[in-house]
Amino acid sequence: MKKTGTIIAAHGRHYLAEAGGVRLQCVTRGKKTNVAVGDVVDVTLTSPDQAVIDRIQDRKTLLYRSDQYKSKLLAANVTQLFIVVATEPSFSDDLVSRALVAADAAGIEACLILNKTDVTESLEKARERLKVYSAMGYAVHEVSAKAHPEATVAALAPLLAGQSTILIGQSGMGKSSLINLLVPDADIATREISAALDTGKHTTTFTRLYHLGPDASVIDSPGFQEFGLYHLTEGMLERAFRDFTPYLGGCKFYNCRHLSEPQCAVLEAVEEGKIARMRHTLYGQLLHESSQTLY
Ligand code: GDP
Ligand code: ZN
Repeated sequence: MKKTGTIIAAHGRHYLAEAGGVRLQCVTRGKKTNVAVGDVVDVTLTSPDQAVIDRIQDRKTLLYRSDQYKSKLLAANVTQLFIVVATEPSFSDDLVSRALVAADAAGIEACLILNKTDVTESLEKARERLKVYSAMGYAVHEVSAKAHPEATVAALAPLLAGQSTILIGQSGMGKSSLINLLVPDADIATREISAALDTGKHTTTFTRLYHLGPDASVIDSPGFQEFGLYHLTEGMLERAFRDFTPYLGGCKFYNCRHLSEPQCAVLEAVEEGKIARMRHTLYGQLLHESSQTLY
């Protein structure tokens, strides 16, 4: 029997799909591992709760990261990315910027969620650091999952309605606390999924999708320390730095790489403080990474 479902969890080469309210343990044909959480798949049932994936339906979006050796699919068909940061512990601008670049390159809206606003000692500093992102047009939403749970849900629920949202963040920022607020019973669902995927007893480090009503979903991805973007080409990188956009085309050389070329409009904007130096440094680093791919 054939069915169509949505991939709700992935762990290694084990996938869990949901098709008409039924959860199916899925495998791919052969050694294929090109399936992502959020993918809509056509499957053939091999038992009442097991299936083989025949086909991945066309994706609206695909978010991924990559290292030197290969790219890793993060999620398919998401419409927006929430980057969770906190007042404490301090967040990494490098990771935030990489996630924003990945989102822009994938054509996905992105915003920042500043959690733990109750930690007032660090609040002003965090706000100050986030100004560079709001100046680029990324919305910053302030919440406190622990101190003000109801206000947090009230602030985030309208943003999630009708969207497929992926939450990412460094560990410790409060992403699990937010998921637990937004998805009552998330813990139970995680245990069930973990059992169905056979991930081993206490493993919760897999990407999973939760439905929020009929037309919204949230994808929780494990906390990451690395966000490689080796897969982005030079042209993609330049365009994914939205703070560079006003200056592209203004350089003396049409093929300017904005690194050390004379009369480069991007470098001039950095000197004038119109582009944050930290962003340009990251751009240089990503350009270097994109030249190092081995695939
Ligand atoms: P994750 O690693 O990003 O999933 O973060 P957790 O949700 O596990 O939270 C990390 C720590 O921050 C835990 O000790 C939480 O209790 C704490 N935490 C989460 N949200 C808040 C908040 O709004 N305010 C404060 N003060 N602590 C929080
Ligand atoms: Zn230039």
